[in-house]
Amino acid sequence: MSGNFIDVATIWLHAGKGGDGAVTFHREKFVAAGGPDGGDGGRGGDIIFVADDNLSTLMDFRYKRKYTAKDGENGRAKRQSGADAEDLVIRVPRGTVLKEAETGLVVADLSGDEPVVVAKGGRGGWGNSHFATPTRQIPKFAKPGLPGEDLHLKLELKVIADVGLIGFPNVGKSTLISMISAAKPKIANYHFTTLTPVLGVVRVGPEQSFVCADIPGLIEGAAEGVGLGHDFLRHVERCRLLLHVVDVSGCEGRDPKQDFEQINRELAGFSAELSQRPQIVLGNKCDIAAEEQIEDFKRYIEEQGLTFLPISAATRQGIDGLPALVYNRLKELPPVRVFEPEYVRPDKSAQPTRPFTVQRTGDHEFTVDAPWLERILAGTNVEDYESLQYFQTQLGDSGILDELVRLGVEEDDTIKIGEYEFDYVY
Ligand code: GDP
Ligand code: MG
Repeated sequence: MSGNFIDVATIWLHAGKGGDGAVTFHREKFVAAGGPDGGDGGRGGDIIFVADDNLSTLMDFRYKRKYTAKDGENGRAKRQSGADAEDLVIRVPRGTVLKEAETGLVVADLSGDEPVVVAKGGRGGWGNSHFATPTRQIPKFAKPGLPGEDLHLKLELKVIADVGLIGFPNVGKSTLISMISAAKPKIANYHFTTLTPVLGVVRVGPEQSFVCADIPGLIEGAAEGVGLGHDFLRHVERCRLLLHVVDVSGCEGRDPKQDFEQINRELAGFSAELSQRPQIVLGNKCDIAAEEQIEDFKRYIEEQGLTFLPISAATRQGIDGLPALVYNRLKELPPVRVFEPEYVRPDKSAQPTRPFTVQRTGDHEFTVDAPWLERILAGTNVEDYESLQYFQTQLGDSGILDELVRLGVEEDDTIKIGEYEFDYVY
């Protein structure tokens, strides 16, 4: 995990199925044969995505991967329509990009404020009350509800660190980030310096997480005039809170107070703005520090109005409560000032989000491969005009008909779609 850090999660969406239309007959005492009065099924729930500025990582999508919207209610007698199902709203961090897992096609970009319907619920079926025509006095059929869209999605989010770890080499920054996140930085008992920030997602609880960057190269790099990459600067400058790690034990023969001041001086030299960021001071290596050393340094830090926490990355002392403390402090701080979308919102109409292939498989035979279309077919009552009409519309809108024509389809040719066969008629 470095530089261009992208948080990724894979999820499954199942939009709700439309409720079935009802086949019922109206009976009244003085009416010999009542008419068909089956009501329509309700619409299946959509799955809608919304950008939420309070979220900053995709961590939660690693814990819950399946999202299912409710089905529409079935129609009932006396022309009573089934209720439409409630939509399922999923909140994601701003800037999350949704892609089809298999094809990588962009489905939606949650950079703006507009909610995006990502998976449509199925339409409710028609009850038999619709089919009472003069010729069909007592229709015995109704339309089944259509299935909702199923999607397998990959979520991607370019993350920017909320929290930066600063401090002298060897004070324990890498050890700390590896304990509070899944990041696996190099931990070394020598002055190891890398100019790539190591990022880790720190989870506090459901919908509560933040991104922490170990930025070991800052001081050395800046002091030695080493060129820092754009990604590096971007991460450092966007940190809203700094965790200043100090070795209170002075085990390397250095003085913790001097270390603290020197890092702050270099920080100011590097970026005046950054030196104004709030800091929490972590006194590390308490396991090998004397009580007086810790007390003395604590007093020194608190006199400056800063929060001091004694910790030990070696024994976990003070570590378990750290994520929650940092998270709560972050909540009080202003959010990231600018948001630069990484992707341009795709033009949905220009994208084949309903992929298909059409092949000529015989002299007068074509085979269409489109799993989504087969699902629609499964919900289509092929005996029923309305239902077929809907299916035809999908064929046209998706470009399948155009493709057939391009391949030279002729009247009465056979079109195979999954288990179904149709004759092509103009
Ligand atoms: P960094 O340069 O700030 O990233 O420091 P590292 O995390 O690489 O740690 C430097 C050395 O200090 C490693 O040998 C760690 O095992 C050791 N170390 C880190 N935290 C503690 C601690 O709390 N107590 C003790 N005794 N050693 C620690
Ligand atoms: Mg390190």
